[in-house]
Amino acid sequence: MKYSSTGKNRLLRQALVDTHGNVCFYCEEELQPNFTVDHFIPKALIGSDEMFNLRPSCLRCNTEKNSYECGEWAKRIDAKLADVEEKIKRHKRISKRIKKLQKLHEEAK
Ligand SMILES: [Zn+2]
Repeated sequence: MKYSSTGKNRLLRQALVDTHGNVCFYCEEELQPNFTVDHFIPKALIGSDEMFNLRPSCLRCNTEKNSYECGEWAKRIDAKLADVEEKIKRHKRISKRIKKLQKLHEEAK
């Protein structure tokens, strides 16, 4: 959830930085001035608007986490990584195959 950097929200954001440091709570990258405020327990899961449920978050993490609870988000990240690994494996298999075919082609000349 995005807050504007004016008035009460500015104080809230300052309080979050004072509590959690000037880094994204999730990826620990340094916060940009326009960082977002994340509901640790998502609002969709009846997470509170109170300070104890709010975390400073970079836009990327907040967007990715969306309305998932942390465990669920972590599972999704793992699944994504597995997918990337699968793609890399496939790419390796394909390039190996191409090299083999090229070699055969060279030999046939
Ligand atoms: Zn982050």
